[in-house]
Amino acid sequence: MKKKFRIAFRILFLLFLVLGAIYILVVKPSDRVQTATGPIFGTTYHITYTYAEPIDTFIVREMQAVDHSLSMFNPQSTTSRINRGETDQTDGLVDEMWLLSERIAADTDGAFDPTVAPLVNAWGFGFKHNALPDSAGVDSLLQLVGHDKVKISHGHIAKQTPGLMLDFSAVAKGYGVDRVARLLDSRGVKHYMVEIGGEVVVKGGHPENRPWKVGVTTPDEGGTGTVQCMFELTDGAMATSGNYLRFYERDGRRYAHTIDPRTGFPVQHEVLSATVFAPNCATADAYATAFMVLGLEKAKAVLSRHKDLKAYLICSAPDGKYRVWHSPDLKPLKP
Ligand code: ADP
Ligand code: MG
Repeated sequence: MKKKFRIAFRILFLLFLVLGAIYILVVKPSDRVQTATGPIFGTTYHITYTYAEPIDTFIVREMQAVDHSLSMFNPQSTTSRINRGETDQTDGLVDEMWLLSERIAADTDGAFDPTVAPLVNAWGFGFKHNALPDSAGVDSLLQLVGHDKVKISHGHIAKQTPGLMLDFSAVAKGYGVDRVARLLDSRGVKHYMVEIGGEVVVKGGHPENRPWKVGVTTPDEGGTGTVQCMFELTDGAMATSGNYLRFYERDGRRYAHTIDPRTGFPVQHEVLSATVFAPNCATADAYATAFMVLGLEKAKAVLSRHKDLKAYLICSAPDGKYRVWHSPDLKPLKP
């Protein structure tokens, strides 16, 4: 009796193993190429990833978390509430972006500055629109700008003057891309391309066993979307800043949305678009904005100190054409 029981148990156990193997091999869905697109941060996202099922809800949740924390255009975001002086509590996302922004502000001699918001508003690119400032107005606004006038630690912000405001617009898109990439990493996704408004992170190459291809557009006024060149990437991040999409003209002068936090005025020089390659997208995004402010020669000086940063800079040329400078080890391909 005991022996029969043992045999029955073994048969059952074997059956369990066989059925388990069949489930893994046949029933469990294998990875497929999934795509997700939609609007976010006033632009659009395009995400391609290999996974057994779509996880779009989780992806959108990551991007919304960034909006709820860092957006100057969402009145309920942590950043907006801090800027209105309603709270001195930060959150994990603000803390992380502050650390990164502070480091890059110091590294770029203040060309990048996450407290530029009062100037951005004054020049008509923020969440408030007033008459354009004169130079006395700019001088008084400059008193409210400076990353060294703010301390953020342990979830708490201390401002030197109440008028200080945070502006994470120059890193938020890139950080949104990083957050989605982290989510996909945590799910074990092997191949992905995450893109929000031109900022990109790729991993593992394309599922068809080739690199991912990403394009850089020409800095034509208003953005014609013409592709200037392509890059083949397997792993890494890329972000572009340009003054050809967001600008306005008044009295024959052009006002672009990148502000030099040291002078208080919108930037006007030869760099029309800056594309930066970095280990993560928030870093690429921040340096892309910084390079727009610094101009070609100072951007090159920053690049020479950082082996993990590369750049493709499109500058204006006297004949109305474009002049390109790029890091020597970048290989732009014809579109
Ligand atoms: P885009 O990718 O749209 O070209 P950026 O990443 O350069 O934009 O971000 C531009 C935004 O960053 C501006 O609208 C403004 O809110 C903010 N900004 C402008 N100048 C600076 C600066 N010098 N440092 C940090 N943020 C800036
Ligand atoms: Mg940027």
